[in-house]
Amino acid sequence: MTSLALEKLINEFNKLPGIGKKSATRIAFHLINSSMEEIKTLTSVITEAKAHIKHCSICSNLTEQDICNICSDLSRRTDILCIVEDCRDIISLEKTATFRGKYHVLNGKIAPLKGITPDKLNIESLLIRIASEPITEVIIAINPDLEGETTTLYLNKLIKNFNIKVTRIASGLPMGGNLEYADTATISQSLNGRHEIY
Ligand SMILES: [Zn+2]
Repeated sequence: MTSLALEKLINEFNKLPGIGKKSATRIAFHLINSSMEEIKTLTSVITEAKAHIKHCSICSNLTEQDICNICSDLSRRTDILCIVEDCRDIISLEKTATFRGKYHVLNGKIAPLKGITPDKLNIESLLIRIASEPITEVIIAINPDLEGETTTLYLNKLIKNFNIKVTRIASGLPMGGNLEYADTATISQSLNGRHEIY
């Protein structure tokens, strides 16, 4: 590589999820060939997003306000709460228009080998919500892989103490499947086919 600056730029893009060396190089070259005006727009959009987007103080979804638009939507059901591992899963579930309750984002899954213990997740705030909101059913919509199973079982045990119904999304999502990549029909089917955990 002849330019150190170009090499640094490629390395930065290469750090982004899903961007390999080849794509990083393409993006870097594209930007170098862009006008200074386009670069300024791009950097200001990134800076603005970083400065204004934060986690909802109730569910931890991404929002520009203190409380996200789902938590503040009075037309949504307050008796049913859907637990997801990531904010991106809310986008996938909302696309189906099947679920009209509220959400709670864990911000990960229990993975002791990666140092993600239950105290690193939004579990305490979840239990406070269950204790204080009129929730009668909790749907666990965590991706069905090994860590997802561990997390689901752990949460089920905790939530059962509140004597409320705990269900999990069912058929449709294969073992190791991911909500983010599933089509809306599959997610709808998973939600409708949820079953109680005992
Ligand atoms: Zn919220």
